[in-house]
Amino acid sequence: MQIPPPRTDLAVHPNGDGVLLGDTVAGQQTALGPQSTGVWMALRDGHCTPAALEAALPDLPRAVLRARIGQLAHACVLDDARWQVQRLLFRGPRAAPAAAGAPLRQPAALRHQCVRCGSSCTGVAVGPIGPATEAVLAPDQLRPAGAHQLMARAAEACVVYAPEAGCGIERAHGRAAKPDPCRQFPLTLTQGPDVVRVGLSAECRRLLACLAAGAQGDPPGAAAQAELAALAQRPGVAVPLPDPVQLAPGLFVPLAEFLPHFEGLGVALPGLRAGLATWLDGVRLALPDLPWLAAAPWGDPPAPVADRAEAALWRAITAAAAEGAEDAATAGQGWEAERSALVARAASHLAGDAPLPPIRPLEPDADAALEAAVVHGALAGLEPVQRRDVLWGVGRVQLLTVLGRAVAQVRAARVARAFTTPQDLNDGLVVASLTLRSPRVEQALGEHAATVRWRYAAPAGPWRPLYGFLP
Ligand code: SF4
Repeated sequence: MQIPPPRTDLAVHPNGDGVLLGDTVAGQQTALGPQSTGVWMALRDGHCTPAALEAALPDLPRAVLRARIGQLAHACVLDDARWQVQRLLFRGPRAAPAAAGAPLRQPAALRHQCVRCGSSCTGVAVGPIGPATEAVLAPDQLRPAGAHQLMARAAEACVVYAPEAGCGIERAHGRAAKPDPCRQFPLTLTQGPDVVRVGLSAECRRLLACLAAGAQGDPPGAAAQAELAALAQRPGVAVPLPDPVQLAPGLFVPLAEFLPHFEGLGVALPGLRAGLATWLDGVRLALPDLPWLAAAPWGDPPAPVADRAEAALWRAITAAAAEGAEDAATAGQGWEAERSALVARAASHLAGDAPLPPIRPLEPDADAALEAAVVHGALAGLEPVQRRDVLWGVGRVQLLTVLGRAVAQVRAARVARAFTTPQDLNDGLVVASLTLRSPRVEQALGEHAATVRWRYAAPAGPWRPLYGFLP
């Protein structure tokens, strides 16, 4: 049985003790670790049968060899039959063309009217700052950050923020002079071929109150809609959708096929996860199979040890958040340090390493409404499409709710309360969302991507070899 050779149209760059493969066709980069690099190089040198590969790499057990060539196939770096079919999807531009003046699509349930609690002005980096804002600020009210400028800080808050008076820029110069991120917060803007989809980030600390306020007015939020539409037309504000869309590692579908199907799966995670798994199986079965991967010499991959993989994921998040807390403390960023420390504590609880006392939600219905709004917000803005692959993206949304709940419990335990309030959960979701975006934690989620897919995106129930997981 011949194993397909590596693709010859990839750029190969040394990367530590592995290589980084640049793929201009799919518009992605794949970092190979030392074992995968060894397999890739051996295949490139012509060792393209199981026996030849084993002889070329005698130190790698068969199960690992099988795992590594499977991962190479899923990363689309082998010139196999499946890639030859899917590469045809990459003939057009990689991002959906922006339709000038595209209308906004914002679910009525996600209309958000800020109640001015000021939390988005505290403990976060505010920027990039554009010329309209820069023009109304003094030089010491700005701070450089790489190629951009950010708002300077006073204590933990934005330099122009005052608890009673709110935003100094808005008061003195109107909303148009505020930084774009502040005018957009907490909404997300995703540019599709047809409309601009308006979603909601999980970083508003008064979410249910703001959604209740957003439902008022006739029509609801007309002024806010007009401002949002203008903002969405500004270059670099709305995030373009990729075309094709990567459903799971190595599985792509055209954007035009993806949109109606994905949006038809609904905004409740259990149903979406089940629908996504069925869809994935259908797409996979419609593509050429990978017979050499199921070839006899390899045998079946060992079944993943579910709880061990999950504990490893949470331990990685614990370590990344703890490092982040140290860095923030060193930089004098008290709020960021506190936030990361909360996540480290919550993640160690989820890893099973630091149990918490039994804590129950005081208002389960309000909590359920809050989580549903956060999930709906992520799906309405097609957030899962904008990261690695959709399966991972859906897993990340679920993981965010699990971590948010655990942070709420940590907060309650700290004050010896046996219950969490909806505000605890709201704050927990904000803390989880901000910390999951930090580079270290994002990297940990990448290193445990398979577990994020399996544990949090696959339908609930016994682990099964859903696509994309290899030990
Ligand atoms: S510019 Fe205004 S809205 Fe933005 S963070 Fe500062 S105070 Fe808040």
